Amino acid sequence: MGITSYAIALGSNRPGRHGPPRRELMAALAELAPVAASPILDTPPLGPSIRRYANAVAIIETDEDPPALLARLKGIERAFGRRPGRRWGARVLDLDILLWSEGAWSGPGLTIPHPQFRGRGFVLDPLVRVVPDWRDPLSGRTVRQLCARLRGR
Ligand code: AMP
Repeated sequence: MGITSYAIALGSNRPGRHGPPRRELMAALAELAPVAASPILDTPPLGPSIRRYANAVAIIETDEDPPALLARLKGIERAFGRRPGRRWGARVLDLDILLWSEGAWSGPGLTIPHPQFRGRGFVLDPLVRVVPDWRDPLSGRTVRQLCARLRGR
């Protein structure tokens, strides 16, 4: 397939072995070895959890296809101590594939672009800091446009 680029969302709202959520994201960023990364942003919780989130976006370059990359990301999540099955609960590390340089992908258990990314400020805010001109292959809008729509600007 050759080298392609992915935008990955990182989130944490529970301390782990590296420390508080911000430290967990720093360790995860070191693991991902991105070519670009947003600042780590502090965001209020979504859903019933009371813990604040640390969120960031990383751009990585790899020859892995989307299922291979997802498998690697799940392995990193496990290594960071995420407990499966608690959708809104505390998690040490959540990794999602947002966008791919090759466009859309759809397979069992994996959809790119990430189906929810257009409506999530905690994803679009860090994403627009690194790749404002990447385009959502489904809507045709740039990340900057998606962010402006969500924020009402
Ligand atoms: P969550 O616990 O909300 O992060 O959901 C993780 C699950 O969503 C994974 O087990 C994946 O199979 C599935 N999934 C579907 N699309 C994506 C994507 N673009 N990035 C990451 N996970 C995805």
